[in-house]
Amino acid sequence: MKPLGPIPAGFTAINGELAIGGRKASDLVAEAGRTPLFVYSRERIAARVAQLRAALPSEVTLNYAVKANPFAPVLGHMAGLVDGFDIASGGELKLVQGAGIDPARVSFAGPGKRDDELEAAILAGVTLNLESEGEAERALAIAGRLGVVPKLAVRVNPDFDLKGSGMKMGGGAKPFGIDAERVPALVKRLLSDGADWRGFHIFAGSQALDAAAIIETQAQTIALAARLTTEAGATPPKVNLGGGFGIPYFPGDEPLDLGAVGQALREQLGRLPSVLAGTAFCIELGRYLVGESGVYLTRIVDRKVSHGEVYLVTDGGLHHQLAASGNFGTVVRRNYPVAIASRFSAEVEEEASIVGCLCTPLDRLADKAGFPLAEVGDLVAVFCAGAYGASASPAMFLGQGPAAEVLV
Ligand SMILES: *Cc1c(COP(=O)(O)O)cnc(C)c1O
Repeated sequence: MKPLGPIPAGFTAINGELAIGGRKASDLVAEAGRTPLFVYSRERIAARVAQLRAALPSEVTLNYAVKANPFAPVLGHMAGLVDGFDIASGGELKLVQGAGIDPARVSFAGPGKRDDELEAAILAGVTLNLESEGEAERALAIAGRLGVVPKLAVRVNPDFDLKGSGMKMGGGAKPFGIDAERVPALVKRLLSDGADWRGFHIFAGSQALDAAAIIETQAQTIALAARLTTEAGATPPKVNLGGGFGIPYFPGDEPLDLGAVGQALREQLGRLPSVLAGTAFCIELGRYLVGESGVYLTRIVDRKVSHGEVYLVTDGGLHHQLAASGNFGTVVRRNYPVAIASRFSAEVEEEASIVGCLCTPLDRLADKAGFPLAEVGDLVAVFCAGAYGASASPAMFLGQGPAAEVLV
């Protein structure tokens, strides 16, 4: 039998069934009227933000990376919990505006911003995290034509990366940000043009569980910001330190030691280089805020045996759960935390593979793992589904369409 990933702490059963936000899985599905269904818990999101606030230095503000989960009720809930929002497209700008979020709280990163996206963001008063000199020139020209002073920050391609991170976003040649040595010249250019220069955005990687690696990256990020500040001869109003806090998905993964990260950051900010004395700091997080708050519920529609192996075939799959299927940035397929939601308290009785309904061998939600005996009609839960599930899976594949979503 292959092991399953660790179920996030705090999930309990009601009458033997998985409960989310105090509600039984079957009741949530009945209310939504269909499976597959993503359920996100308000309480778990709020608790996670509270943990971060308690661990991080109080002067560090907290941004939510919208791409992790742009579901409108989640954005609305976040609006009352975090300080800022990071978007990465004109589509996400519309989503945050639709959620009634003040554009002054929003910054916009991402390579390949179109002119119409730059224009909408500048008009709204969103801060642009510039990804290249070319983008800077287009933004200045658009702002000049509109007669608006643009809010512009510079995304730096750092000369280091976040060690052990699942996805490296800095260090060496990258499509993200501007190579550190060219940044001071660009800052001078922005200031001479009369732009409202907002500071630096330095994001070195994602999905790190190793506190020591995050601490080292934060130290390097602060040192880099100080060096660029000296070379540019201007104090950044704000430095976005990135984030990269990971969550456990796979067997053997241990949760990040948040206390250690917070303590180290407090010490680093306590002995800040004097050139950054007037600078504010923020952290931007996606999956750490919402990932463990979400559960994907899908129903077993068939139970079959092939060459002695049990297959539980569900009405969901990789079109909503690309990452859990092992096809989103992983080299070796390992099992996510998965359970039979409708028999959450039952013991392991058999080895089975849980597959999706798509006509491809890639569509596997759990491979040869131990489960209670499950029948057609039972509900399967895939945990850690609050981030990069609905938003990062090919919902249109095979004409399936999106899953239902609910915030409880
Ligand atoms: C994707 C991304 C994030 C969010 O990453 P998580 O791993 O979800 O925390 C934050 N900032 C930038 C620039 C990103 O590209």
